[in-house]
Amino acid sequence: MLTKEEIIAYLQTSDEESQKELFEKASQVKTNLLGKNVYLRGIIELSNICQKDCYYCGIRKSNKNVNRYLMIEDEILKSAEWAYKAGYASIVLQSGERTDDKFVRTISDVLKEIKKLSDGKLRVTLSLGEQEKEVYKCWYNLGAHRYLLRIESSNKDLYHFIHPKEYSFEKRLECLNNLKEIGYQLGTGVMIGLPHQTYEDLANDILFFKKLDVDMVGMGPYLEHKDTPLPDKDTIIVKNKEELYHLGLRMISVLRLTMPTINIAATTALQALNSFGREKGILCGANVFMPNISEGEYRPSYQLYDNKPCIDETSTECLDCVGKRIEMIGEKVAFDEWGDSLHFRERNC
Ligand code: SAH
Repeated sequence: MLTKEEIIAYLQTSDEESQKELFEKASQVKTNLLGKNVYLRGIIELSNICQKDCYYCGIRKSNKNVNRYLMIEDEILKSAEWAYKAGYASIVLQSGERTDDKFVRTISDVLKEIKKLSDGKLRVTLSLGEQEKEVYKCWYNLGAHRYLLRIESSNKDLYHFIHPKEYSFEKRLECLNNLKEIGYQLGTGVMIGLPHQTYEDLANDILFFKKLDVDMVGMGPYLEHKDTPLPDKDTIIVKNKEELYHLGLRMISVLRLTMPTINIAATTALQALNSFGREKGILCGANVFMPNISEGEYRPSYQLYDNKPCIDETSTECLDCVGKRIEMIGEKVAFDEWGDSLHFRERNC
């Protein structure tokens, strides 16, 4: 177990040789314990309608330059069925946050239909924000297995700095605890390189994941969106994109050393910084890839940050490309495998 000081030291590593050693160490831990399998989660961005106004996010409620959409049920199911037939075994339903009854019912209906069309064989992750415990329970009972809710930052002051003041940090923690209690495989994560965020904050984020004993983490660099108001950009600990990219990779490696058996996603935000970013994430200790399987026409309207990659591709093109990229780095796409984290399996036996 790394101490906080050791984690900070790793995160601050700037000389190339030590950084390379860190990446190799994390990769070795991953390969020894989890092999060379990369698990796929096809992500359906089903709606960009959001009732929240987070200061960093491109689809925040106040952004009037967004074409708002909600896919109809058939479109969501078509993507889910395509993914199932293509060997995905696991999908993620992600959306802007809505808590109204109509939305909750739509998701419930979709979950029922996904179960039917896949004979219960498709693992479903939800990434639909903060909801009432009863809603989480209902969706779990209808067949959702995993839930991804990023804490965004485990530093309460920083959390408040990047959100409108009435958003409650405690409520977010309560949601995470509720999800776990209900039985979901629990995922969380943070943004890396936020204004005012320190290396100590990032180390605390890693210790937070450990303490919450999560099964999966999806974290990535904070990237600016031109229509968002997050201030104080000159307080970011890294000076440029290149440094941010490497800090993102070091976070993955240090997390792999701290929580060797969880699932860690190589997120799209890494690829926005470097065209080889997601593959490099895998080589630094991540083991999950989340290709976009939304219908092409919607992709440009789900831009959480500027210059999001893959918005002009089809799902088939994405899968083809992902397969080649993973093979190229000597890893293997685990088609038709659920890819529950070893950590989750251990915690339940
Ligand atoms: N509404 C859902 C999920 C949608 S957003 C929820 O609240 O959980 C998914 C994630 O994208 C967020 O949790 C956030 O960490 C990330 N994100 C949003 N804006 C971003 C930005 N500008 N740069 C990097 N990541 C961002």
